[in-house]
Amino acid sequence: MDEPVPLRFDNRFSTELPGEDPAVNRPRQVEGVLWSAVSPTPVAEPTVLATSSALASQLGLEDADLESTWFAQVFSGNSVLPGMRPIATNYGGHQFGHWAGQLGDGRAISLGECVNNAGERWELQLKGAGPTPYSRSADGRAVLRSSLREFVCSEAMHALGVPTTRALSLVATGEPVVRDMFYDGNAQAEPGAVVCRVAPSFTRFGHFELPAARGDRALLEKLVDFTIRRDFPEISGTHARADFFAEVARRTGVMVAHWMRVGFVHGVMNTDNMSILGLTIDYGPYGWVEDFDPNWTPNTTDAQGRRYRFGTQPQIAHWNLSALASALAPLFEDQTPLHSGMNAYVEAFQTAQARMSADKLGLAEWRESDHALLQDLYRWMQAAQVDMTLFFRRLAELDVASATLSDVSAALYDQVRADREAQAFADWMARYAGRVANDSQTPAERQRRMHAANPVYVPRNWLCQQAIDAAAQGDLGELNALLAVLANPYAEQANAERFAQRRPEWARNRPGCSALSCSS
Ligand code: AMP
Ligand code: MG
Repeated sequence: MDEPVPLRFDNRFSTELPGEDPAVNRPRQVEGVLWSAVSPTPVAEPTVLATSSALASQLGLEDADLESTWFAQVFSGNSVLPGMRPIATNYGGHQFGHWAGQLGDGRAISLGECVNNAGERWELQLKGAGPTPYSRSADGRAVLRSSLREFVCSEAMHALGVPTTRALSLVATGEPVVRDMFYDGNAQAEPGAVVCRVAPSFTRFGHFELPAARGDRALLEKLVDFTIRRDFPEISGTHARADFFAEVARRTGVMVAHWMRVGFVHGVMNTDNMSILGLTIDYGPYGWVEDFDPNWTPNTTDAQGRRYRFGTQPQIAHWNLSALASALAPLFEDQTPLHSGMNAYVEAFQTAQARMSADKLGLAEWRESDHALLQDLYRWMQAAQVDMTLFFRRLAELDVASATLSDVSAALYDQVRADREAQAFADWMARYAGRVANDSQTPAERQRRMHAANPVYVPRNWLCQQAIDAAAQGDLGELNALLAVLANPYAEQANAERFAQRRPEWARNRPGCSALSCSS
């Protein structure tokens, strides 16, 4: 590579923590270390399909860099820059409530920790760049449809103000990947792709759980102290470990409150998919609540138990934090700080949820009785089959004193059901009008508050699927249009009505358009 590359690396995870450099890359149990040196597996024909220029500039890259040959080569895994040190990390996890043992980066390869001119640390991680010692029986690759979904949603969540890992690039590999999308024995070749994810740290709850489960206290201790040093530099002193756990708990609470605010369903909240920084991580069979239903999950693999349905996400995060607390327990003589940390989660979630709920309803302050007001609204939305995103946005435009059901018709999935619930809506609006009259804000202030909390555009699964179908045919127009709209999700944009619509009837049962499997 002849061109100078403006990225500087300081790989602390692989420098300060124990790892291995295996001669051969064979799937196996890897004991006693937190990472394995690996090389991305080159691909046939890298084609850059999408980039985030906002993120790129934060890293110190210019738009010209995104078009350069080196960019496509590096972010497809075909070459490694000076200063990078590719590794796959070692973690375990609880999957669907059960301890799963070692999992690890089976198809993620961290290229290195980039430090920008402002001194910010950004780890660059390829997803789908080939096998690692943690690939178990799988291929280390990712298909275009799931990679595009991860790219789009990462950047959309960031624009929505939801803590998340970012995505720098989406690169088609020019190689097929075989997947059994319906788990019915009909495997098919699909186009492959690689996403470059970016975050200050990709450390997961499962990184702590694995050494704890193996009784490797020394390794656990090293990881905890390293994580505090690198990822929580504001924490120090004799209570550092307790403060660390409480801070992870608080951040997780705030993250989940945001999910509930925007109607995001992660779909696979296993502890290996929980970030220590409280970032949304691992976009798989995620989805967006459309017709409001707290029992909905987009993940067909979880259709039976619905463990990770929309409404239980706050409880699941609590469960996951207690799994982390159990992993950390050997480092605490007295377990009280861990219990306090769990309480810190509850408090942080409730505080954030109250603030966000007030914003969603356009109230300057949240009162105890507002809980019932909101819960009754949600009950009505479920009974009447109302689109969550469209409804809250519309609510900001209504004259609360005179609004009727027909004013929210764009958000209704089933007119017959909605008509049956018309009186309930009128009753609720009357209560809401009374509450709003009792609030200290002007109508304009109320509307501004609601517009900042209730997005117009979210990456509904069928919108992503349309972009996927077009991209698979070589047409990137849909993807670019979707990305442009999602970059400003709270602002109504010209000619973008089709991105702010109820799920169309054709999308209800089409694979990928509402529900989808884990196959990716
Ligand atoms: P996920 O359900 O995406 O969180 O993945 C769970 C585990 O399976 C992680 O250890 C992944 O690295 C691994 N995994 C998922 N898909 C693949 C794949 N195609 N190749 C290798 N490992 C994979
Ligand atoms: Mg995962």
